[in-house]
Amino acid sequence: MKLNKEEKISFFSLAAHQLKKPLSTMKLSLQMLLEGDFGQISKEQKDIIEKILQRDEALICLVDDLLHMAQNQKNQKDINLTLVDVEGLIESIINFEKGDIINKKIQIDFVKSNQEIPKVMLDKEKIYLAIQNIIDNAIKYTPDGGRVNVSLRVDKKNLEVKVEDSGIGIPENQKKNLFSQFFRGDNAVKTQTVGSGLGLFIAKSIVEDHKGKIWFESKENQGSKFFIKIPIRH
Ligand code: ADP
Repeated sequence: MKLNKEEKISFFSLAAHQLKKPLSTMKLSLQMLLEGDFGQISKEQKDIIEKILQRDEALICLVDDLLHMAQNQKNQKDINLTLVDVEGLIESIINFEKGDIINKKIQIDFVKSNQEIPKVMLDKEKIYLAIQNIIDNAIKYTPDGGRVNVSLRVDKKNLEVKVEDSGIGIPENQKKNLFSQFFRGDNAVKTQTVGSGLGLFIAKSIVEDHKGKIWFESKENQGSKFFIKIPIRH
């Protein structure tokens, strides 16, 4: 059977969706096991379950990236805007990353500049994916015991998110390629074998779909800062 481009993309999306369901169910069951919902577990059992959970979460992120790529191929660039509580969204991302944060003994801080952050018009699912890719990288590319700072600022004009880490940084000669599809830095590949090189490419396309900007500052071996700035729609 020969499939045309549209059919291939639909098949690809369906396969990714089908993969995500069992991965999410697995995540929930593993979390319940860890929390002792099915009875006490030993230290050895806990260590193994935590490792499986980490791999499961990495696969969920990869499937999300693939789903997003398929959507872009369909030219469904339109965004579904609703009023979003960005503070809550970032808190849920940090909570999702909790396993890695604890395992790597990362000190993570979330700083909000305003006392009360107003809700803003965004595509909730897409922005979640963009910010998650940035926070996930900060944790992934920071050695054990390091630090990650996330800050959020919303004023009348813009929403600004900054993610700063004390990690491996980005070599000067690789900076120009960072947002390219499938690009992975040499130092990143050495540190972290799991990765698709799609996260930043996707984050950039999402931020640009919101008419925003994404950029970074970094020094190798000293850490990185990633910035997202999105104009507020009223
Ligand atoms: P992946 O993390 O799967 O490799 P990304 O598209 O998310 O793919 O990132 C592309 C590359 O950018 C990474 O491989 C790494 O070289 C670099 N990078 C991204 N975030 C960071 C960071 N916080 N610190 C150091 N390098 C980073």
